[in-house]
Parts: sequence; C-alpha cells; structure tokens
Amino acid sequence: MPTIENAAELLKYYEVYETIGSGGFAKVKLGRHILTGEKVAIKIMDKKDLGEDLPRVKVEIEAMKNLSHQHVCRLFHVIETSTRIYMVLEYCPGGELFDYIIAKDRLSEDETRVFFRQIVSALAYVHSQGYAHRDLKPENLLIDENHNLKLIDFGLCAKPKGGLGYELMTCCGSPAYAAPELIQGKAYIGSEADVWSMGVLLFALLCGYLPFDDDNCMVLYRKITRGKFDNPHWLSPGSLQLLNQMMQVEPRRRVTVHALLDHPWMVAGYGSPVEWHSKLPLGHIDEDCITEMAVNMKRSRQSTTKLVKEWAYDQTTATYLLLQSKKQRGKPIRLRPPPPLSEVTSCSPLHQGLQSQNILHFSEDDDQGSVDFIDTYYDDDCPWMALTPQGVRSRDTDNTDMRAVSPAGDRRRGHGRTPEKAQITPHRRREQTNENKENVAVVTNKDADIFAQPAPRTPATNKKIARPNKNILNTPTSNNNNIGAKTTVDTPKGGGNAKDQSRKRGEEPKEPGDLEILAFSPERRSRSLDMAASQGDSGQKRRGGRVFGSLERGLDKVITMLTPSKRRALRDGPRKIKAQYNVTLTSQTNPDQVLHNILTILPEKHVDFTQKGYTLKCRTQGDFGKVTMAFELEVCLLQRPEVVGVRRQRLKGDAWVYKHLVEDILSSI
Ligand code: ADP
Repeated sequence: MPTIENAAELLKYYEVYETIGSGGFAKVKLGRHILTGEKVAIKIMDKKDLGEDLPRVKVEIEAMKNLSHQHVCRLFHVIETSTRIYMVLEYCPGGELFDYIIAKDRLSEDETRVFFRQIVSALAYVHSQGYAHRDLKPENLLIDENHNLKLIDFGLCAKPKGGLGYELMTCCGSPAYAAPELIQGKAYIGSEADVWSMGVLLFALLCGYLPFDDDNCMVLYRKITRGKFDNPHWLSPGSLQLLNQMMQVEPRRRVTVHALLDHPWMVAGYGSPVEWHSKLPLGHIDEDCITEMAVNMKRSRQSTTKLVKEWAYDQTTATYLLLQSKKQRGKPIRLRPPPPLSEVTSCSPLHQGLQSQNILHFSEDDDQGSVDFIDTYYDDDCPWMALTPQGVRSRDTDNTDMRAVSPAGDRRRGHGRTPEKAQITPHRRREQTNENKENVAVVTNKDADIFAQPAPRTPATNKKIARPNKNILNTPTSNNNNIGAKTTVDTPKGGGNAKDQSRKRGEEPKEPGDLEILAFSPERRSRSLDMAASQGDSGQKRRGGRVFGSLERGLDKVITMLTPSKRRALRDGPRKIKAQYNVTLTSQTNPDQVLHNILTILPEKHVDFTQKGYTLKCRTQGDFGKVTMAFELEVCLLQRPEVVGVRRQRLKGDAWVYKHLVEDILSSI
C-alpha cells in the first residue's frame, strides 16, 4: 500500500492534475511547478510494478540528464521515494506525433519535411552524445506548444563504452520499427539501427501506415529482412529514394545521420542543412535566472550558482531549468514570492519545499495497476498549499476544468479537419502500390535460423519485487561526470516486464519450439519489443464474458446505474468545443443519438467502458485481464460546423491497433 510520504514529497513542489498518458510502466500526469507556475508532465512509476525493469528507468534518467536539445524532452526533476519514482518532464501539450498522423491520414511531403528535419536534428544530437535511442516511433515523439517535436522514452537507449561505433547485442525496440540486423539477433551499430527506424517513421509520416506490418511476427520479420515496402503513387521520386536509402537491409549501405543533415530531400525548400547543435547546451548558466533565484532564496548569486551547478535534478535544478524555459519563451523570469514569515515556519521553499498535508488519495488504479491521484486544486494565486488548500477535487469532477489546460486544446488551431476528411475510413488505401526492390538483401538462411528468438520467461522475469525498494537511482549529481560509465548499459539484464511488460530479449539459447508461439498480439506489433511477453498472448483471442458496461448489461441498465453526479453530467449536455485534429466529425446533430450508437457498438467490439456524462473511458483487455488498451471517447458539440463530434484520446496501448479499433467504432456511428 503506497504511503502518503510518496505524494507528500511530490506535492511540496508540484500541483498534480489529470492523467495525460500512460505507458508500459508509467502513468503520466499534468502538473504545475508551484514556484515558477510552469506546467510540467509528471511521469509516475511504481517500483513494485517496475520489478526487473528498474534498471531501464535508471538508464532513461541518466540519459535524459545528459541530453539538452530543442527536440529532446527535457528532464527537470527526479524524486525517488521508497515506493515510487517521479520524473518531472517538459510538458508537451500537442500529444503524440502518431495521433497527429492518423488524424490527418498522412502528411504532405512539405509537412513531413518540417517534422523530419526536427527528428534528424534530435537524433544527430543524441548520437553525437554517444547514445543510440533504439525505440524510435511516432508514439515517442511528442508535439509541444509551438508544434515542434520532442523525443521521449530513453528507457532503451544505449551508450556503448567505446563509442557509438561499437556493436550492441540487445534486441529491443518495437518490432515494426526494428532494423533487420536487430531482429536477426546480430551484433549491430546503434546509430545504423536508429536510421532504419527513422526510415520506417518517415514512411509512416508520408503514407499513414507502416511499411512492414503483419499480425504474425514471423511474417513481419520476413518482410523486414526482405526489405520490400509499398511504393504508393503519392510518394515523390525524391521521397522514395530517401526511404530506400534509409531502409537498406545491409546496414553499411544505409545512409548515415550525418549524410541526412544535408541530403537533397531534407534541404528542399530550406536551402540549408539541418541544424542539429543544441541551442540549450548543458551546463549553461543564465545570470538572469540565477539573480531571480538568489533573491527568492535570500542567498548570494555566487552560492546560488554553486547550488545550481550541482545539477542534482532536485528542486533547484527544476526551478533553474523552468525559469530558463520561461525566459526562452519571452515570459518574465519571476518566481512566486515566498509567503510572509508570519505564515511560514520553514525557510525558502526552494530548500524546504512546502509542507503538504493529506490532500492526496491513493488508489491502486482500477485499470492500469498503477498509482493514481485524486487530483487536487490550489488557488493559483497562492502557491502555499499547505497553508491554504482550497479543497479536494475528485478526478471525476475535474475533467472539464482541466481540459482547458490539457493536451491539444486550442493550440491545434489550423489543424482542424474538414468534415469530409474527418470521417475516418475503416481501411487504409493501399491501391496502386509497387514494391521497391532496390534495397533488398540476399537472405540465405532459413527464417527460423536467422530471427532472434524470444527469451523464455524465467521465474525471475516474471517476479515482481515484493518488498519496498531502497533508493535505486543513486544518481550522480553532476551533469557530465561519470555519466558515461554509468550509462554504458547496453544490455540491461532481466526479462520482459518493460514497456508493455517487454522490450528486451535475453541472450538465452534459442528454443526449437519457440517458433510456434511467436505469433504476437496485434496490440504489440509496433510496441516496444517483448518477445517473451508475446509468447503467452496470441492476441487473437478476446476475453469472453468479463464485460462491464457491456453485452450482458445493455444500454438501459448502464444508464440506470449512473450515479447522481453522472446523471448530472448527462443533464448538463455535451461540451462545446472547437474542431481539432483529435475530433472526428459526424454528420449528426443529436449528441444523445451519437452517444447511444457508440454505447451500442462498444460491447460488439469487446470494449469495456465506464461512462461519465458524454465521456466514455474505454479499455480492452487481453488474456488474464491485462488491460491492452485504454482510451477516451467524448461526444461533443461543435460550433462550426454545427454537428456532433467525437473527441478521441489514446491513453495506453499500441497506437496502430488503437487507430484501427477507433476507426472501426466511429465508422459505424
Ligand atoms: P513508458 O516509459 O511507460 O512507456 P512514456 O514515457 O512513453 O511511458 O509515456 C507514456 C505516455 O505519456 C506517452 O506516450 C505520452 O502520451 C504521455 N507523455 C509522456 N511524456 C509526456 C510529456 N512530457 N508531455 C506530455 N505527455 C507525455
């Protein structure tokens, strides 16, 4: 049972709001750094749930401490308690690049180039720092408030001891994005494998579907090692050539990131190579920020600078980096003033933090087996929540309020979809496509011999750490010192309870019988690789019988079971919102009819749901009740055009499977 100590530590410095995403082992919530007033994303991980994957978190944290780039999500603060790890990150309100692609079907070459230049810039920088990312995919690229990309999820990154030119062995990443040499279990160069994944990503941007795709992983692997992909008619010769150069089966023939920087396709319309150097180099000290902090802390500028230079990723680092970010965005470099001494017995909040009280409620999360909060509310003008808590707000009641500051929001102006375009079609067009043949490697071995095999699920890999963990991060407090030695973890040991209980392959010998059970769940094909986890989960089966809000119950029963607050939410009617990229427009004008249609379809699609007014929190479950996907559908009213829309938000699960499922649901309403 989590202790209040966990939340208290976090709440000294942050207000915590709604969940904005969840991954294999983390829940991510919107937060606000009290002292600077800046919004942040708080990644919350329960050590017990992480189990054997704790080292991955350490790898991610160490890597993020060493990376500071305009297209890499910035880490501000790490809080470790006896049971949890909190990573406080730069908040990216625009959601995942994946959702943006599917909302637009596919992107034009020009728009693709804008994003792809940023991706290449980020990767050139990451590689220059000695890291390979190893899990590049559109779900790991978030869109910030200025519609720029930020790379996340460094849990699988590697920093080979001898430099990036040294070979790696761990097969990881997401199958659909994995390079041939990786899935063949060969030694590989991290940067070369990243280029392949970038090629897959570029294809997904330009085409809206994956170049190599299949529900059966052996078939998928065969496609990847053959290296043939669709050549749809809308791809320009230049795009096709670039894709071929990036998705070369033979790694040595693949274009390098360095060559990509001034590749003719990349510079078209720009006339200049990709700028990849960091605009925010690590260790830079901004005097204005120091001055503001020194005043707030009642310290000298010299001692404040010394404190900041410790780069401890504590409240000092967070305050400094968030102030710096405010400055870059042209906002005043101001900290909230400390409360009058008569009100506070502690010294500066920079050091002491705030005294929190029992304003958090913890529950073992219903659907995701993870921590959860009852969100709290504090008066914006008074950061001293311990002194003036304004009350407790339950998650149930905060949806509407917080959406004002939540993902996407109005920032997507200009990306609204036309009614015709917004109708998601059930099947992707793949007509008039040819296969490229230029990059095909000769595959002589039988597939069965060359593909990397899943590690058997050992008792150790399944085991969760039962007792509370001691501090496991023990991170160095300086930025660059010793980091190399600490993060040269190419092959974090342990089995498959990483993202989606998965991601890495042990180095155990191949088992002859493994081939038969290699068919993996479609929920996983573009998710971070967990061959071990895929063994017991064919994904083809749907769980039977365990449906709530569903088949047996029927719509009437669901409605009669609504609590008073839920009835009130229905009575109040749907929200009125602007058309955004994540809203599917319908041709209907009656929201109740649309809601009714969705409620009827969800059980047919084996989707469980809970209803709050016009919002449906949906989820699918795999075998053994594991939640494979979680998403929200909200029936809304649009003003222009005056029709009913359905806002979609994926919270958890494979992006491509989500896309197909939601297309399926919404195409029938
Ligand atoms: P995990 O490591 O468990 O896979 P991720 O880091 O991928 O978790 O985060 C899960 C999801 O949370 C992301 O896919 C994204 O939707 C959301 N998320 C993560 N970081 C941020 C952020 N900095 N800003 C906004 N949303 C985020």
